[in-house]
Amino acid sequence: MDKIKNITIVGGGTAGWISAALLVKVLGKTHNITLIESAAIGTIGVGEATIPPITHLNNALGIDEKTFLKATQGTMKLGIEFENWSTQGSKYMHAFGGVGKNLPFCDFHHAYLRAKALGENRFFGDFSLNYQAAKQNKFAKLPNITGTNLPGIVYAYHFDASLYAKLLSEYSQGRGVKRIEGKVVDVTQEQVTGNITELTLENGERISGDLFIDCSGLRGLLIEQTLKTGYEDWGHWLPCDRAVAIPCESPTPIAPYTRSVAKDAGWCWHIPLQHRMGNGMVYSSAHMSDEQAENTLRESLPGKALADPNFIKFKTGRRLKQWNNNVVAIGLSSGFLEPLESTSIHLIQMGVIRLLKCFPHHGIKSCEVDEYNRQSKMEFENIRDFIILHYKANQRDDSAFWQHCQRMEVPPSLARKIDLFEQTGKVFREQDDLFTEVAWQQVLLGQGITPHDTHPMASTLSDEQLTDLMDNLDTLIQRSVAQMSDHEEFLEKL
Ligand code: FAD
Repeated sequence: MDKIKNITIVGGGTAGWISAALLVKVLGKTHNITLIESAAIGTIGVGEATIPPITHLNNALGIDEKTFLKATQGTMKLGIEFENWSTQGSKYMHAFGGVGKNLPFCDFHHAYLRAKALGENRFFGDFSLNYQAAKQNKFAKLPNITGTNLPGIVYAYHFDASLYAKLLSEYSQGRGVKRIEGKVVDVTQEQVTGNITELTLENGERISGDLFIDCSGLRGLLIEQTLKTGYEDWGHWLPCDRAVAIPCESPTPIAPYTRSVAKDAGWCWHIPLQHRMGNGMVYSSAHMSDEQAENTLRESLPGKALADPNFIKFKTGRRLKQWNNNVVAIGLSSGFLEPLESTSIHLIQMGVIRLLKCFPHHGIKSCEVDEYNRQSKMEFENIRDFIILHYKANQRDDSAFWQHCQRMEVPPSLARKIDLFEQTGKVFREQDDLFTEVAWQQVLLGQGITPHDTHPMASTLSDEQLTDLMDNLDTLIQRSVAQMSDHEEFLEKL
């Protein structure tokens, strides 16, 4: 194939506009970038919580935090609190950032578990600066816990995704991206290679391209409907296949964290924004009807509903090739992992960055496409395992859904990880795994898995030293939190 000069993006949701913005920022005017979107089809209308690398995306685009938060009605996110996931009434947080203080070659949780065996009754999360700030509705940009070199606040955002897409649309068009409003009704392919050459819109207009980015959402207009790439269905590991969303009035104070509350056959999300709260229920249609899900969600709304319910069907899994021929699928067209750990927007960001790293300036080479697909597969599988862990390691005996999750087989990569943690307390980060060891520790412990053993280094501390370590950390963390602003005050100051 010849040089890539014309890039055509189909879809103007979060995926389409992040792709357009990053591509135009990096490639500048060397390429012609066109984005087609259809107001008649619209976007999925959900997707409001993110994880810390989103800050790198805005930095790379040169969008400052103040502009971003104002334009998107954004708030700060310190982690996700999981309620009722282990047992009814249980709570823990997957907080971003560090927990406690590691010993040489030995993670902090080993010392914590030893202290616990000796009578320590604080929770693991009591030694997380992020968790303690979140629970007290505090926020500050703190690189370290005050007076120490221990990691400080690590944050992401909650925001209105449609406003973010609008911001990025203005950003991209201002830098030369051509936007076309219209519905693609026909796709032309080259006979021999199968490469896509042209898209036809409802009004008859034809748009050609050398490289196509499929951001058309769950339908996968180019990657699946045209190229028949195939899909790996992970529904046997992640049984939820529906969601219903209803935004409501935002309660005050505006919390700096997401809530995920487990229900009989799924879970509800509550995402605080400045102007409203995003809520939804993710559920298994085999265990709960749409009506039951809507009622469950309505009962848990913390304010007056602001819109009719938005029902969404999905199939968890991934496209077998995220890059096929001259089509790269970004966003929901590339696969879907349910939003339990807020990873979809991150996957969009990583997909575009990966494309830029493998950009086929001199034509598409199969070795580059293979490498792109290999990395994308690994990334999806690592996140998949982390999400399955929340379901598998539940201790609930009050519903058929949760018992089904306890009994289900999990991927060998996850089974190995759980087994190692259970027997030794050890957990290792896979190469390029998005989630750090401390993220895994929080969820493994939070879901109620107690290791049978701890690292010998934790036993080198005397009982007194252990108590001092826990008390000192607690004091340092509380002192740092006390110096922070209220979250709302922080937003107002911005
Ligand atoms: P869409 O938003 O569906 O956009 C598709 C675009 O393609 C639209 O512009 C549409 O008009 C256009 N299009 C389609 N067909 C045509 C055609 N024929 N012609 C022209 N244009 C066309 N992610 C997170 O990171 N955090 C979250 O908290 C989160 N929560 C979620 C909750 C749920 C229940 C679901 C289902 C997803 C969630 N996600 C979340 C994922 C997130 O919503 C998506 O990753 C993100 O919105 C990107 O979607 P998209 O742009 O790929 O698709």
